Amino acid sequence: MTLRSALCAIVLAACQGSAKPADLPPVPEGVAPPEAGRTSVLWIEVCSLRADRVGAYGNRWPISPNLDALAARGMRFEHVVPAGAWTRPSVASLRTGLFPRSVDIDRPRAEGESLKVDDSFVLSSEWLHDRGYRTIGLSANPNGNRYFGFDQGFDVWVDSGKLYTGWFEHREDVHDVTDRLLAEIDASPEGQPFLAHLLLSDAHHPYPRSAMLIPTDMPWMPADQNLYDRQVRKVDAGIARILRELDARGRRDLLVVVTSDHGEGFTDDHAQWHGAEMYNAQTWVPWIMAHPGLPGGVVVPGLVQTVDVLPTVLGLLGVDPGDYRFDGLDLHAAWTAPDSVQTRPFAVIQTAYDETLRTGLVDPTWRYLVQGEGPEAPRELYRWATDWQERQELSAQEPELVARFDALLATWKEAHPPRASGYLDEATVDEGTWKALQELGYLERN
Ligand SMILES: [Zn+2]
Repeated sequence: MTLRSALCAIVLAACQGSAKPADLPPVPEGVAPPEAGRTSVLWIEVCSLRADRVGAYGNRWPISPNLDALAARGMRFEHVVPAGAWTRPSVASLRTGLFPRSVDIDRPRAEGESLKVDDSFVLSSEWLHDRGYRTIGLSANPNGNRYFGFDQGFDVWVDSGKLYTGWFEHREDVHDVTDRLLAEIDASPEGQPFLAHLLLSDAHHPYPRSAMLIPTDMPWMPADQNLYDRQVRKVDAGIARILRELDARGRRDLLVVVTSDHGEGFTDDHAQWHGAEMYNAQTWVPWIMAHPGLPGGVVVPGLVQTVDVLPTVLGLLGVDPGDYRFDGLDLHAAWTAPDSVQTRPFAVIQTAYDETLRTGLVDPTWRYLVQGEGPEAPRELYRWATDWQERQELSAQEPELVARFDALLATWKEAHPPRASGYLDEATVDEGTWKALQELGYLERN
């Protein structure tokens, strides 16, 4: 047997192994509903995770048994649109409960200008730190590093630092992040609740070639989407490991939140990857929550956005934000009474990834995209509800809809002016972060 055929045999044997069933710890009994000061929060953002790759959201391949089981023992929102199309603005939105436009973190910039989350914004970490939480922030994506303002309010903060350099070396994967988290939990005072923010980048391209060795029930194909799916399988198993380890440490009064900052395009959509595009592949993400004191199997069908996550988590914990005005909605009542909350008539998403400000409006039927600013900017209109791949561009056939959506977006922009601007001194950013950003495809220093 040649070395090449031996390697092929090993790969095939590994890939033909069955995917494991769900591997979560048992649901603890007798835990009261969540409450600030008592309930810990594990908040996981799986960068680039498309909702349709998760079984609970309809994926027929069994690559997410643990997320599916988590949804079954908790609740999920069905139609979740991120507020931004790439990591930095979208994570800023998740952590502040404000749209990227309000945070002024994603727009065409002047020469040499770089944007970060300004200190004046109150992040999730600050809301809970002020209420006695030990706050732990771990980033596996350099776009979530402290230079961009994400470390505010954390007792412990760890930036992403590793790069892909070969077959088995990688950025921080879910297990690296988990090991660090557990070390911090073990060092935390017993009885003190924690907020742990994990930004995981296992599903972010480029995928390590070793991903082809991750066993699933899927056929092996030498395609990026297939490697992506295997990375999703890995992160799913990694999340189960975190939950087992926390359970073993008695950390059972735990609110688990799993969501994503944006999706990922393959050849099934208009564009590869993510950043400048806002089609179905990039703009449908999961949002799953579980707590042993709240019912399982809850599905909220309406349209929501990731900007709603923070107000909802605070609502679940009973934290009163006073007169602080979030852009996001507090939807926590949906967990026990799904029909009691008003979801969104439409979602708005913006990106200036390539220095052109693009705006998208999504409602339960239509997707309307303005590729630039001003009346001359190209418009696109798709009936996504019946044209999933958005092949039929209908703006010329539907001028009344175009006018209506333009008016809605003008009103929306007026209602969401930038509240403050955080300017980043690029000279303060370490070379490792720049290199890692380039490795992820962010070629310019933005
Ligand atoms: Zn991301």
